[in-house]
Amino acid sequence: MNPVFVKQSHKIKVAKGSGSCYRTSMTKWVKTDELERVNTRNVLKAIELEKGLSRAQVARRLGLSRTTISTIVSKLISLGFVTEGQSKAKGRGRPGIHLSLTRERWHAIGAEFHSKKWVAVVTDLEGRILKILENPVRKEDVDSFLLGLNETIRKILKDLPGPMLPAIGVGAPGLVDCDNGVILRADDFGWRQVEVRKYLEEELRLKTFVLNRHRGGGLAEARFGVGRKVHNLVYIGIGTGISAALISDGILIHGANYSAGEIGHMIVEPGGDLCGCGKRGCLQALASGSALVRMAKEALQRGEASSLRESMEGEGGELSGEQICREAARGDSLSLQCVGQAAKYLGIAVANIINTFNPDMVIIGGPVGQTGDPLVHMIREEAMRWAMEHPFSATQIVRGVLGETAGALGAACLVLDRKLELVCAE
Ligand SMILES: [Zn+2]
Repeated sequence: MNPVFVKQSHKIKVAKGSGSCYRTSMTKWVKTDELERVNTRNVLKAIELEKGLSRAQVARRLGLSRTTISTIVSKLISLGFVTEGQSKAKGRGRPGIHLSLTRERWHAIGAEFHSKKWVAVVTDLEGRILKILENPVRKEDVDSFLLGLNETIRKILKDLPGPMLPAIGVGAPGLVDCDNGVILRADDFGWRQVEVRKYLEEELRLKTFVLNRHRGGGLAEARFGVGRKVHNLVYIGIGTGISAALISDGILIHGANYSAGEIGHMIVEPGGDLCGCGKRGCLQALASGSALVRMAKEALQRGEASSLRESMEGEGGELSGEQICREAARGDSLSLQCVGQAAKYLGIAVANIINTFNPDMVIIGGPVGQTGDPLVHMIREEAMRWAMEHPFSATQIVRGVLGETAGALGAACLVLDRKLELVCAE
């Protein structure tokens, strides 16, 4: 039998300041089963965006009949996504029944690799973190990275607060092919073609979604952190490498082949230091955590005084970009010099981003970027020197607020965003 086609035309209200983008109207020809899927997704999204809506209000928002909404809401309740509750009566009217997400029914897992460790989180349906697990890895090579991921997820699966959405979100370093879950290249580690999704799906028999760790951090800050209610934002993640998340009205921009946001390879000094990508003068060769460590080590070898020497002793002789930012915040002059040098290049990059993307907000994040205030202050000053006055006047440059769990939370968002498909496919 030929599939039945119907004309679908509905309106979705954009929740003010939600930071998410929906088409205000949509008209197309779709198959009936596809129409049901689209409507179910839209009803769930509407309930997620505007807390406390009644069935009638959802029907009005989406331009659908009360009967359709009732059928869909009943389905969403039986799937464990939506709960009905009584709202207080206004005046003499009857108390209304409002709809909300069932927070405690389903859980999502996200994990991110940074600073020689995996950080994994378990969240409820609204993205609240219920559990955090840290798992250090011995070496920063591909085998330790994958084994560490496997071990981390197995550990967190052992003690879940309730049923989980059957998938894992992973924030990985480097340029990530999100459709296939492959790290195409991670220049800060020298890795190529790391098949993260294939590995984890074979090991755990669980669907796996992978994205660049800093894109994950940006997604989390945009939804739950300092970037909430911001329309256009750029999140710059600084760790051993540097990359960014470009987010416009809640949508993460991937580009033609996943490279949108790879600002670590923006040339900020033609002919400058050699980068892992083979070019010279890339931002991450001059201003990443690895670059900070190189600058500090050279100065320490020259015999310059610094509190970094004691700090290194406490870390077993190791030095990291995070330590340098911490010591800079405590006023250590050598650390401040290194941070100032990195901020010079980061400021040029931020100015270029402001001039071309015209964001409302630039968030400085990642393990190095969110450690202490001096780096953000210096980046702001440098960016002001180079950016065009008009777009700069509309841009806030701030530090991320989600700390160590930002990337893992962003990875969990990949699972949360597919909750309906994941549970219906079971
Ligand atoms: Zn490069």
